[in-house]
Amino acid sequence: MVGAVDIGGTKLAVGLVNEDGKVLARREAPTGPESTYSAGLESIAGMLGEMSKSSGVEITGIGIGSTGPVDPLTGELGEVDFLPHWRQRNPVQDLDKLFGVKVALENDADAGALAEAAWGAGRDKTRLIYITVGTGIGGGIILDGTLYRGVGGAHPELGHQVIDPSGPPCSCGFEGCWEALAAGPAMSAWAQSQSPADDSYRTAEQICQMAREADPLARRAVEREARYLGLGIANLINLFTPDIIVLAGSLMKSAPLFLDEIRATIVRGCRFVPHEKTELALASLGDDANLIGAARVWHHRFGP
Ligand SMILES: [Zn+2]
Repeated sequence: MVGAVDIGGTKLAVGLVNEDGKVLARREAPTGPESTYSAGLESIAGMLGEMSKSSGVEITGIGIGSTGPVDPLTGELGEVDFLPHWRQRNPVQDLDKLFGVKVALENDADAGALAEAAWGAGRDKTRLIYITVGTGIGGGIILDGTLYRGVGGAHPELGHQVIDPSGPPCSCGFEGCWEALAAGPAMSAWAQSQSPADDSYRTAEQICQMAREADPLARRAVEREARYLGLGIANLINLFTPDIIVLAGSLMKSAPLFLDEIRATIVRGCRFVPHEKTELALASLGDDANLIGAARVWHHRFGP
C-alpha cells in the first residue's frame, strides 16, 4: 500500500492508494503561506500513521506530488511560492527517516501526467501530454510510460511557451506566455478590463457560468480563452503529435465551452502532422486525482 502525499498551496492531502490506483482512505489538513515545514511534516506523518493503523495496512512506500518547482532527483522543494517556509526542505529524506520506506517526489503536474498514463485516460497510449489549466498552466510529458525530463531532471514548462509576444508580462520574464494569456486569472483579468465597473467577472469559473447563460462579454471571454488554449495545444501537436493530450485543472471542468474552437485551431494550424490521430481527452481520475498521482510517482520510480 502506497502512502500518497499531495502538497498544495492551501491544503495537504494524504491517502492510502492500492496498486490499482484506488484511494482507500484520505485525510486533509489546511496549509498556507504562514505554515512552517516542521508543522506540515508532523501533520503528514501523523495522518499517514493514523490511517495506516485504523485501516490495518502497512505503508510500503510513499509518493509525493507537490506544487511548485521541485528537484525530483534529490527530493528537495524549490522556490515554492505558496509555501515560503518550505523552500529547500526535503520531505523525501524526512519521510524516509520517519517511516523507513522508499519515498519519491515529483511536481504535481508530472504526478498527474503519470497517473493519467497509468490508470486514467491515457492507459495503453505510448505518447501522452498532460495539461492542467487553473491558476496557472502546467503539464507533463510521458513517453513509453516514462516521464520526460530535461537535463538535471528539469521539468518542461509547457505554460511558458510564448503565444503572443505583444501579450501581458509573465512571471518567467517573457511577455505573452500561454499561462499569462490563458490561465484562469488571465481570463478574468481580460473580462474585467473590458467592463471595469462590473465586478461579476471576478473568476474564470464565474465567467464560464455566465457564458452558459449567454452573457455577451462572458461569451467573448470564452472565445478568447478557447483561441489561446487552441494555439498552445496546436503548438504541442506540431512539436510532438502525441497519441493523446489529457486536459485537466479547474478551467477544464468547463471544457465543453472551449473544445470546438480548440479543435478548429488544431485543424487550421497542424496540417503538416497527422493531428487527427491525436486524441483530446478530459482527465478521468476525478477529485482524488492528486492523491492518485502522488501514489503513481512511487510506482513510476520504484515499481516493477
Ligand atoms: Zn512565462
